[in-house]
Amino acid sequence: MMNEEYNRTSKMADCRMGNVGPYFRRTFLRLIQRRCWALLLGLCLGGAAVSHVPVPPCRAVIIAIDPGHGGRDPGAVGYGVKEKDVTLAIGKELAVLIDHHKGMRAVLTRRGDYYVGLAQRDSIARRAGAGLFISIHCDSGKPRWDWATVYTQKRGSIAKASDRLGDYITAGLRHIEHADRDRTADFVVLRDSRVPAVLVEVGYITNPHQAHQLATVGFQHRLARAIFRGIQHYLSR
Ligand SMILES: [Zn+2]
Repeated sequence: MMNEEYNRTSKMADCRMGNVGPYFRRTFLRLIQRRCWALLLGLCLGGAAVSHVPVPPCRAVIIAIDPGHGGRDPGAVGYGVKEKDVTLAIGKELAVLIDHHKGMRAVLTRRGDYYVGLAQRDSIARRAGAGLFISIHCDSGKPRWDWATVYTQKRGSIAKASDRLGDYITAGLRHIEHADRDRTADFVVLRDSRVPAVLVEVGYITNPHQAHQLATVGFQHRLARAIFRGIQHYLSR
């Protein structure tokens, strides 16, 4: 009590006497301390609040790759080359290219030599949340025919997007071989797809030269790269 009284008196005396330095210094230091704590508390609370802000996930575009035929269904056969083997090899390589690219992820409707129904192919793509559907096939016809053809969706609101995707893939394939301008078709996989879809006939397996090319790993990889470039251009526009 005595001390308190003394301190109060002393402070008043200090003020009266103009010796205000120590009093203001103490007040100033207390103020700084309080502000520091407030600042620290603010930073902690702010940090906690920021750390709880949900960061939107960077979602990749899922691309369904559909290697045509498989298992008991060999597809077209020419000069000992089976369509199901060519489409699987190109499809797998295309999936590798897609998976190595940031922002894209591939899902294959078949990964080996087994049969997958047409409806099942579509449901695999849907379950995976695919945003694009690329079906790969080989054509059959006259032995002198030797070009690629890209088919796009005929009806619905996504037909325009399918057409654009088809244009880019056709342009990519034209770096390798003659590629037919994309046409619309009513193939089941195109009709069933609710996302932009194309069906690529990569070449004629009934042409002796092209059958040999289609069975070559180097040519298969070139085709996969050409399709990949088309997808890339489509997604970048
Ligand atoms: Zn086919």
